[in-house]
Amino acid sequence: MILEQEKILKTYFGYESFRPGQGEVIERVTNTTNTLAVMPTGGGKSICYQVPGLALDGTAIIISPLISLMKDQVDSLLALGIPATFINSSLSTEEQESRMNEIADGRYKFIYVAPERFESNGFIHVIRRIKISLVAFDEAHCISQWGHDFRPSYRSIVPTLKQIRNIPVYMALTATATEEVISDIQELLHIDNQNVINTGFARDNLAFHIVKGKDRTSYIRAFLEEHQDESGIIYTATRKQADTLYDQLSSRGIEVAKYHAGMSEHARKQAQAAFIHDEKPIMIATNAFGMGIDKSNVRYVIHYSMPMNIESYYQEAGRAGRDGEASDCILLFSPQDIQLQKFLIERSLMDDAAKQNEYTKLQAMVNYCHTQVCLSSYILGYFKDKSPHKNCGRCSNCVEKLEKTDITEEAQMILSCVKRMGERFGVSMTAKVLKGSNDKKLRDFRLQSLSTYGLLSAYTEKEITERIHFLVAEQLLSTEQGKFPTLKLNQHSVEVLKGQRTVEMYTAPIPTGEEDDYYKDLFE
Ligand code: ADP
Repeated sequence: MILEQEKILKTYFGYESFRPGQGEVIERVTNTTNTLAVMPTGGGKSICYQVPGLALDGTAIIISPLISLMKDQVDSLLALGIPATFINSSLSTEEQESRMNEIADGRYKFIYVAPERFESNGFIHVIRRIKISLVAFDEAHCISQWGHDFRPSYRSIVPTLKQIRNIPVYMALTATATEEVISDIQELLHIDNQNVINTGFARDNLAFHIVKGKDRTSYIRAFLEEHQDESGIIYTATRKQADTLYDQLSSRGIEVAKYHAGMSEHARKQAQAAFIHDEKPIMIATNAFGMGIDKSNVRYVIHYSMPMNIESYYQEAGRAGRDGEASDCILLFSPQDIQLQKFLIERSLMDDAAKQNEYTKLQAMVNYCHTQVCLSSYILGYFKDKSPHKNCGRCSNCVEKLEKTDITEEAQMILSCVKRMGERFGVSMTAKVLKGSNDKKLRDFRLQSLSTYGLLSAYTEKEITERIHFLVAEQLLSTEQGKFPTLKLNQHSVEVLKGQRTVEMYTAPIPTGEEDDYYKDLFE
């Protein structure tokens, strides 16, 4: 059976072999077994329903909440000579009716529809009469209330579909692999455990990098200079950052596009089209840009500053390398980014519990910027990915050959300082005390009389801060979350203090670049 499907893969799509998971999914669906495919972005989910759709008789119905992608999908099938169409609200009523008539005549192998289509009696009437090969739920995490993008209208069509007797097999596809989402989808669509094909989250073609202490604009200019013919996205945390960077780069004659929610819809559409068609291959954007962007040749995603959490980071960075080619995901980090994100959380309309949750997620993001483990493994660990993973060998932590130094003594000094400060202060005040700073707030709290005051005066405040963040990232020190997270000792800290545990750190080049003050006017 699988041989026949490989033939379809070759003849229609021109690919030599299946990617991990594809064969397993395709075999099940062709045997009319309900199946859930969990694959990372760019893993090749479309092939998973396109090959069985071609192997089986009848029309495949693909339900997708992303209207913007339907036309592209249909166009690429048509280009391969496969009859396909879509129906959604972007079409005139006449056009919708004419396509419905063609569907009723069984003219298509694939039809793409939005969930709302199932609220139309006319549509239900037509699909009851035709031969259906399969029904696929694309972006299936949207039907789960545990998904990050739950759409109730997506879930509510499941009972309607179950009353349509001529659907031989259901399949669901998603890149969101949390356990709750998976079991929710399984339950809704009656998918057994052995028919969940989960290839994990790993994106083997992405190389993650953290860049600290560099002037961001100069770094980006130098990077673009070296990657002239490549397409990439530069994400900024605010519209203002996007505007400024756009002006800086375009005034130097670099062809860039810009996209954020403060622009008119027309200007946004134009910018998106110019980017997609490689007229302007570099996009500077806020997180408003991205959902439903399917550009396969994005070679790099640069984050101008640290985003709010790992979920958004992985989703945005993951827009690089959808074609499977090696691509870079670079995060430019400066300690001020933490303040900026806290400001954005505080300013949001979330209630206190939700804000607290955001602070916890923010801490995991900050830890990512300070961890010394493989960055890929850190992300997979964050998502509790079960697939076997080892050091990626591509990220900045794997590649940079830094010297490992024993910093146990410094760690003990930091930990005892935290203790002596009553575990009531955050990173920056602790660094100031250890530095022996003459800060007014420090004196107001009478912290200069502590025995740990000035204990690390040989270091710069930045170096001390870096070491404190490192201890937190290594879980040798805890933080109590909130607007002003305070440092607390934990069981591991005690082991370090008692000399039962040594602490080693790769001494990264200490940031020396100019401090940029892009964020200052935000707080005015
Ligand atoms: P996803 O929907 O999982 O993000 P896509 O279905 O868009 O991914 O596929 C990503 C890219 O990989 C596309 O360019 C697709 O043509 C390509 N692709 C998919 N399967 C294969 C395969 N077996 N061999 C080579 N390329 C593939």
